[in-house]
Amino acid sequence: MTFRSVAKSGTLSLNEMMGALEASGRQVYKFGFGESPFSPPPRVQAALQSARGRAEYTAVAGLPELREKIAAFHCEIDGYPIDMAQVLVAPGTKPLLYNVMQAFQNAEIYLPEPSWVSYAPQASIAGHCVNRVPTTWENRWRVLPGLLDEVITRHGRGDRAKLMLLNYPGNPDGLTYTRSELLALSEVLREHGVWVVSDEIYGLLHHRGEHVSLASLYPERTLVTTGLSKWCGAGGWRLGALILPPDAPGDLRAALVGLGSETYSCASAPVQVAALTAYEMDAELQGLLAGQRRVLSDIGKLVQTALAKTGVRAHPPQGGFYLLLDFRPFADALAARGIDDDEALCGELLKATGVALLPGSAFAMDSKDLTARLAYVDFDGDAALQDAKNPAQDIFGHAAKMLQGIEELGNWLLN
Ligand code: PLP
Repeated sequence: MTFRSVAKSGTLSLNEMMGALEASGRQVYKFGFGESPFSPPPRVQAALQSARGRAEYTAVAGLPELREKIAAFHCEIDGYPIDMAQVLVAPGTKPLLYNVMQAFQNAEIYLPEPSWVSYAPQASIAGHCVNRVPTTWENRWRVLPGLLDEVITRHGRGDRAKLMLLNYPGNPDGLTYTRSELLALSEVLREHGVWVVSDEIYGLLHHRGEHVSLASLYPERTLVTTGLSKWCGAGGWRLGALILPPDAPGDLRAALVGLGSETYSCASAPVQVAALTAYEMDAELQGLLAGQRRVLSDIGKLVQTALAKTGVRAHPPQGGFYLLLDFRPFADALAARGIDDDEALCGELLKATGVALLPGSAFAMDSKDLTARLAYVDFDGDAALQDAKNPAQDIFGHAAKMLQGIEELGNWLLN
């Protein structure tokens, strides 16, 4: 075989499939693609417009003033000291995650089940050994310290580096960890000397604004990833950041900068300049975040409750904009219709109803477990945000199309 086999990311493929269905005139309920329903704040858009003349290559690590701003911003909101030397900026967190995988050699990787679509493919491309950390519905898909200890003890061979990927609030589950849960996990991680990428890209979208960064509890080996894609509604602008531990080995930083220099060169200069405005923590940004949290929390709970009425289980969401649906209560009925895995489930559902979900197997779940991810983002986020400014106004009307999609889903399940 001459070429490496790398499938296109499941989320991006689905987005294209949904587009094709819609172009053919079908009603599509877009629960499949995890894109923020909100636009970037107007002042950040204006900053991008004024920066359009900035056509230079910046330093690979990013503009120094932006790295300084990101350090101060996360220091303030996450409550732990960060120096700008720890911050690397790139065109999205995806290439940063990829380069972290490439920077480690022959490592043992620990991935929770479920976990975000790209971690496992990136780990495989980098030639690492991937070890799964199972979770259950009953434990709200949380990694339990005892089980983590067992997996690392069993699969922590020799002096190989150990690297775990943790993402909370989570994609695909919409759930998070409490401080005490993180503390318990950090004890296990410390005992085994595990490096962690704490993917906190949804941290600012914790529905109650109570996100706790693992770096504040396990500073010595936590690499945090964050960026503008979710809370700033700017996924397509491509701006991500990595916060290294304060005493990270010089070799690790040098490897990341070296890999960045050989791949993306730098994040787009105008976007970096606009990010200086995005990372301005003031009353306006606080108001915007409070509004986004209210909208996502109210709509997420509404969608989860509507699903529960159809018999599809999901835990009430705590952050971000996802629900991990459990169709096991329908396993027998679906099997009688020839549907016995999550791909068949999502495929048949999309064809019959236009409801687009992503199979749980894209997130490392067992396909026979019949899980699927729903992104509750098919609504006009900016209009909802406008209404959310008035505490007396409910915003449930904005979810009408999504509720219609869930009704279609419920009817299809009953057929
Ligand atoms: N990590 C998680 C958990 C995500 O959901 C996403 C995007 O969907 C990313 C990373 C990648 O984000 P970025 O746009 O910064 O590359």
